[in-house]
Amino acid sequence: MNYITNANLKEADNEVFAIIEDELKRQTNHLEMIASENFTSPAVMEAMGSVFTNKYAEGYPYKRYYGGCEQADKVEQLAIDRACQIFGCKFANVQPHSGSQANGAVYAALLKAGDKILGMDLSHGGHLTHGSKPSFSGQNYSAFYYGVELDGRINYDKVEEIAKLVQPKIIVCGASAYAREIDFKRFREIADSVGAILFADIAHIAGLVAAGEHQSPFPHAHIVTTTTHKTLRGPRGGMIMTNDEDIAKKINSAIFPGLQGGPLVHVIAAKAVAFKEILDPKWKDYAKQVKANARVLGEVLIKRGYDIVSGGTDNHLVLVSFLNKPFSGKDADAALGDAGITVNKNTVPGETRSPFITSGIRVGSPALTARGMKEKEFEIIANKICDVLDNIEDKELHKKINKEMEELASNFVIYSKSTY
Ligand SMILES: *Cc1c(COP(=O)(O)O)cnc(C)c1O
Repeated sequence: MNYITNANLKEADNEVFAIIEDELKRQTNHLEMIASENFTSPAVMEAMGSVFTNKYAEGYPYKRYYGGCEQADKVEQLAIDRACQIFGCKFANVQPHSGSQANGAVYAALLKAGDKILGMDLSHGGHLTHGSKPSFSGQNYSAFYYGVELDGRINYDKVEEIAKLVQPKIIVCGASAYAREIDFKRFREIADSVGAILFADIAHIAGLVAAGEHQSPFPHAHIVTTTTHKTLRGPRGGMIMTNDEDIAKKINSAIFPGLQGGPLVHVIAAKAVAFKEILDPKWKDYAKQVKANARVLGEVLIKRGYDIVSGGTDNHLVLVSFLNKPFSGKDADAALGDAGITVNKNTVPGETRSPFITSGIRVGSPALTARGMKEKEFEIIANKICDVLDNIEDKELHKKINKEMEELASNFVIYSKSTY
């Protein structure tokens, strides 16, 4: 049984109610393998749907511009304290509305327009906000890039060479499509060698970091941002952390009044609930299982003749390359979608197709792991992925696999209390 009733909504607005019911069906029947998505718990969603949505609380705990913030103060302070406990840092700002807002605040706090930043190339696995041209980060600042080698890995010596040439004010590390561990210690050495600030964006791997299943950016990075809705399995939002009091003050001003108005207190309450789940010893089991499941996925794909960028994975995702195949990432994305398996197309190192077509897909394990799936299910699913890719034109087969995947999914209820 899932825990969603939406009884009031059903009475008030049947149209929106019906759309949400259909979305619940979609989430339930399909296998969600987009690496940046997850299923948050009913407890987190209750906090998110709470009366705090009605409260203005501009400012920070115990220093507000509005009256009546006693409870907002308590819940935001709780979220901050739990965040600091999880990541072992001194300061946290839990107000960013999203990961991109968090990153915008970092630049706004520490840079002037036109200053130089060095980040990972979007087409090599970086994020738009790491200096990409269509993003504010590439428009307001002078952005330079490092990437991965043809083996799919960051070459740290090369990053150092580029840093020495560019002399950036900030070096951004962290990625959206990189299957290997990020060496924050080495990045800090590079930053120190050119006098740059090291900014780690752990949006994708934060849940693993929280469990000690990935090297921590602390104490190496001067400043760390994350989303709270990816591997952290919390509500949609962002967060900024540091050990440096001076940077913390600048960040607070950059978020409010710099970039945002009133904080989303309901979302901050939900962040606090998610952080409590992460502080539970069971979180370590979840993070370990996320990695184990991704590993099985990679192993099966390799056994079935598919190229995995960097030859495997250290984290929650695999990047599959179709550079040597007659079909594209877009074709694979569509065929897998027809088979009830949701992934996203992705560029790969040595890309030959456009960013709208691509030669790869990114496949992640966090969401299905949250549903309770283990190695056994991931082996079955990985083989079905290969069946679809081997027969990319066979629409009848895709339909048949869709039924099988729906059947498999039905054994793993989402939004049930027992899963979390
Ligand atoms: C997802 C992501 C973000 C942005 O998060 P939004 O909440 O979508 O704005 C930033 N950085 C990285 C590395 C990401 O993967």
